Amino acid sequence: MSDLTNPFLIVQGQLHRAVKNLGLSEDVYEMFKEPFRITRVSVPVHMDDGTIQTFIGFRAQHTDVTGPTKGGIRFHQDVSEDEVKGLSMWMTFKTAVMGLPYGGAKGGVICDPGKLSERELEELSRGYIRYLAPVMGPEIDIPAPDVNTNPKIMGWMLDEFDKVRGHHTPGFITGKPLVLGGSLGRDAATGRGVLFVVLRAMDRLGIDPKHATAAVQGFGNVGSHTARLLHEAGVTIVAVSDVRGSAYNPSGLDIPELLKYVEEHQTTKGFPGSSEISNDELFALDVDVVVPAALENQIDGKRAEKVRARIIAEAANGPTTPEGDQLLRERGIFVIPDILCNAGGVTVSYFEWVQNTMGYYWPEEEVNEKLLRMMNDAFDTIYAMRNEHKVTMREAAYLVAVHRVAEAANARGWLRVNFHHEVPQALLRGAGD
Ligand code: GLU
Repeated sequence: MSDLTNPFLIVQGQLHRAVKNLGLSEDVYEMFKEPFRITRVSVPVHMDDGTIQTFIGFRAQHTDVTGPTKGGIRFHQDVSEDEVKGLSMWMTFKTAVMGLPYGGAKGGVICDPGKLSERELEELSRGYIRYLAPVMGPEIDIPAPDVNTNPKIMGWMLDEFDKVRGHHTPGFITGKPLVLGGSLGRDAATGRGVLFVVLRAMDRLGIDPKHATAAVQGFGNVGSHTARLLHEAGVTIVAVSDVRGSAYNPSGLDIPELLKYVEEHQTTKGFPGSSEISNDELFALDVDVVVPAALENQIDGKRAEKVRARIIAEAANGPTTPEGDQLLRERGIFVIPDILCNAGGVTVSYFEWVQNTMGYYWPEEEVNEKLLRMMNDAFDTIYAMRNEHKVTMREAAYLVAVHRVAEAANARGWLRVNFHHEVPQALLRGAGD
């Protein structure tokens, strides 16, 4: 990872620009340029072969100025402290964009979960939570799934936390199995949120979804639900890829069949009637929408130059490098920024936490309806901000988010910022106008 692709340095740059563009004092940058707490744990695991292996994990908690910190936990061989720090800050701005009562956090464990047995994975998940339990809880820091983690792992983590605390605490973690207090609609929520903002963007750009085409990079939880929901909305998906391979068919992939195929083969590679496509080729396809739904730094300068899509929907966190972003801006490509585009997941996590607090559970339609309203409101506020300030959707999203964080700091007496002449019209008008 170079400085140019380091998520922590990238988000610091984004924060700094927003502070300047809002005309706020440098103090705002100084106060929020780092997570307030980073915990590093080392978790020894009894491996199936009788040896002990120790895994390193992190939890970065960026700010609790707007509420308890919130964000997922990823299991990946490339996890690093700076990655987790950067991702925790993106969570702060994501929850701020959505107006959720949370600050940001992110966790990660350096491991290749594909190489661990289920028992080893469970011991690792439990150990990670055991060491972090003192700085976690429904009113302190609330984890959730991220790359390579899922409801099953959330279930083990919840159980471990309950054991440490000595009582049942369903609101400790979100994205957990339904039977343990999970929310209907959480599993598909990130993909559904992507669908909603893509449809909104298509509407603004005059694209008819029924005649539109899309390509999706990544076929995990986010990519697969996004492809399915876009397909159900009438969009033709011509290409998808995952870590092991890809499936490309210029006249459209049969997504329901592909989902069955992936269930069986754990990859999109070799799907009947499709051919292989490289990621370079996927990003250069002549489609209406490209959805990066994998990891950071996928659209660099080289790929950005070749993008032919009108919309980039950032379902992953940080998929575009600053250089790529600059090129997409110059080329007039409409980017739906990650902190808006993939916010459906944390928004339904918030619904899950609310339901846990109430002990009263909503039907799926209610979850999806509330999600639609919140995604559309956030999109509209950012779109109005973009038009008012003549900036990109990403810059507009940061203006909205940083304004809210600074306002909260002000309200707490942490800062003295005069907002009277600085509140952008898009925020005054309120969402939905
Ligand atoms: N990991 C997801 C994200 O990056 C979800 C976080 C959550 O639900 O707290 O937004």
